[in-house]
Amino acid sequence: MVDVAVVGGGVAGCELALRLDRAGRSVVLVTTSLDTVYTSEPPFLDVSELTGVAAKEAAALQPDADRLSRWELHTHVKQVLEQHSGVHLMQSSVEQLVPETNGWSVETWEGVPIEAERVVLAVGTFLNAVLHVGRTVETSGRLGEIAYPDLFHWLQGKDVPLERHSDAGKNDDGVAWTRDYWAIRSEGTPPFAVPGLPGVHAIGRCRTGCTTYEATVADATALADHVINDALDATF
Ligand SMILES: Cc1cc2nc3c(=O)[nH]c(=O)nc-3n(C[C@H](O)[C@H](O)[C@H](O)COP(=O)(O)OP(=O)(O)OC[C@H]3O[C@@H](n4cnc5c(N)ncnc54)[C@H](O)[C@@H]3O)c2cc1C
Repeated sequence: MVDVAVVGGGVAGCELALRLDRAGRSVVLVTTSLDTVYTSEPPFLDVSELTGVAAKEAAALQPDADRLSRWELHTHVKQVLEQHSGVHLMQSSVEQLVPETNGWSVETWEGVPIEAERVVLAVGTFLNAVLHVGRTVETSGRLGEIAYPDLFHWLQGKDVPLERHSDAGKNDDGVAWTRDYWAIRSEGTPPFAVPGLPGVHAIGRCRTGCTTYEATVADATALADHVINDALDATF
């Protein structure tokens, strides 16, 4: 059993995983695709804006750059996480959580379960997401990245409070898109507890009220501090 299973390898999940590893916690970071680790919507990023610890370690791999492309940031963060032995990176889609004596079994579509004392949902804009790009409609959390419905339906079935959100932007070709997705109304700032699911937390864009990069990094930092400093207060 690992200390923490982090579901989702975006900014929130990666920043949290690295902070927990630095504090000696064992982590499985499970995400739908390892090709989209730390994906950012802006195609280029100023290094001075990268406030997260994972992003800073990543930027240090290209020390002369003032800007990184989205692709460079992704590959560097992935390399950083692979170098931290306390973080096990796993490519799978999480469908549901099953309670265990001391935590949860995180069940994946691929069939490999992960047992963890705590679970952190960092699934971004992927809960029941629908994306409209021009005339095309995709069930995607981001352009070209499929959003599977199982985890959303499982959360709904557990009466987890969920709130519908919409946002909009333009893709790299200037075509307008709109996106509908759902976010979890978690409790506390932190521990961002998911109501009704002891030992489960929600951070980043999948938490209501967290919509920017800075807020996402702040969520990961605050939850990491909470997990590192507090004993598990959940009752199973
Ligand atoms: C410097 C910087 C500036 C940025 N500026 C902007 C900006 O101006 N505007 C903007 O829109 N964005 C911006 N971004 C990107 C934005 O910050 C992030 O997209 C946002 O913080 C959300 O991150 P997240 O980790 O919560 O979610 P996401 O990035 O959406 O990551 C969620 C991850 O969870 C995975 N996942 C989902 N469901 C499951 C499941 N069931 N099982 C397993 N894995 C799952 C997904 O595949 C995805 O990889 C910026 C990023 C950076 C680095």
